[in-house]
Amino acid sequence: MGFSTLGLQANLLSTLDALGYEDPTPIQQAAIPQVLAGHDVMAGAQTGTGKTAAFALPLIQRITAQKEANSDIRVLVLTPTRELAQQVHQSFVRYSEGLNLNTVAAYGGASINPQLAALSEGCDVLVATPGRLLELVIKELIDLNNLTTLVLDEADRMLDMGFITDITRILKRLPEGIQTLFFSATFNDDVFALSKTMLNQPKLIEVAQRNATATQIEQRFYEVDSQRKAALTAFLIGANNWHQVLIFTRTKQAVDDLAKELKKDGISTAPIHGDKSQGARDRGLEDFKTGKVRVLVATDVAARGLDIDQLQYVINFELPYNAEDYIHRIGRTGRAGNAGLAVSLVSHKEKYLLADIEKLTSAHFLLQWQEGFEPNPDAQETSNNAKRKSSKKNLRAQALGLKTNNKAKKGRPRRR
Ligand code: AMP
Repeated sequence: MGFSTLGLQANLLSTLDALGYEDPTPIQQAAIPQVLAGHDVMAGAQTGTGKTAAFALPLIQRITAQKEANSDIRVLVLTPTRELAQQVHQSFVRYSEGLNLNTVAAYGGASINPQLAALSEGCDVLVATPGRLLELVIKELIDLNNLTTLVLDEADRMLDMGFITDITRILKRLPEGIQTLFFSATFNDDVFALSKTMLNQPKLIEVAQRNATATQIEQRFYEVDSQRKAALTAFLIGANNWHQVLIFTRTKQAVDDLAKELKKDGISTAPIHGDKSQGARDRGLEDFKTGKVRVLVATDVAARGLDIDQLQYVINFELPYNAEDYIHRIGRTGRAGNAGLAVSLVSHKEKYLLADIEKLTSAHFLLQWQEGFEPNPDAQETSNNAKRKSSKKNLRAQALGLKTNNKAKKGRPRRR
């Protein structure tokens, strides 16, 4: 598949031809049409996958289409290091050959004067490290009011290098509603949290690493009645002889109930949630890491910040209300180039949540039945939007510490 199918204009196609780029890389195939269409993008891609061209080419096309005389900075690319800023700058210059477009690089550890001189010549695309950018903004040496796109490149590295405060300060000074492109090689809790604050209905793009064993997460979905989920979980773990299984539930109550059930089935299990003391949580995690217990059951909130390497199995006992949490959950497995398996148990009434996940990940998943655990076709479980809205509303209310209209069932309150 050549570049011509991606919607790029003729002059960019001839530049690519001259550069000897014959076919787009996977990240380019996936990202270029989305960026051209103006969408926010959240992409998992490492340097070396062709990610710079994946955002530079469509952005060059968008800016040249909008460009007016004396235009201000339209695109801002933030990079963690001076070297990357220089590389990205060179890429923009290379890809915009023959077009009337100015790209400037601004980074710390070098005199600001030549950078200011370059900016005064006109700048459509600014590639900058966070510290230097902040200096330029605070001293009012640049105007970002006409910015249309922000690219955060190597977001994970940026956070590792402690740039979060700078980034937050920069974000406050950018116009609202701009297109944001978020690139990160990994998605840990901090990166995920940052992406959530920055992106608006992002298109998710994940590509395998180049020159490394691809990180592969097999995603399997079992349709099962809710009351049979605990038995199916125990069966899957036992029959497949899985060790080190992280299980997610939506509520604290479900964590406790499932841990109890699994223990009854002879599977050593540690429960973790917000009502457990820090000591109990640390002990549970330690026992899980050292293999003393086979299963860790946790809520999404309790699982944040858990750093467990080489995890092979994740089970979604219940699908999350927030589809992005699904990506976060399954990202716990298949780390560092290892294969991983993410199993989700889906009851009839959770099918709308599966549809949300499919929409978010632009994927279609096959719901399979496990022999002996086939769903009862007469099950009267219903799914309707009213119920969903009420659940979401209650979740939010509980997060804010407000009262909800959840009726306690048989005197036992449902805890989250
Ligand atoms: P990046 O991941 O953006 O750092 O790009 C890695 C290298 O791949 C750079 O040297 C690019 O010039 C090169 N490159 C990017 N896209 C292509 C392509 N479609 N075909 C050939 N080379 C490419």
